[in-house]
Amino acid sequence: MKVIIDQDKCVASGQCVVAAADVFDQRDEDGIAVLLNSDPPAEQAADVRHAAAVCPALAIHLEE
Ligand code: SF4
Repeated sequence: MKVIIDQDKCVASGQCVVAAADVFDQRDEDGIAVLLNSDPPAEQAADVRHAAAVCPALAIHLEE
């Protein structure tokens, strides 16, 4: 799985960090999401899919 964040769309809600804290973090200065791991292991895939589903800005894109 490859994870991509569109930082121009991100509204800094933090839902992705709640869903998958090993993969997503937020910048201290503005809360925009950043990737900790763009190629997460299979055991984190469900959490990452959940993060993409709950992102209110549809800013998370997955390539399976
Ligand atoms: S859930 Fe979406 S809008 Fe919220 S911080 Fe993560 S990428 Fe940004």
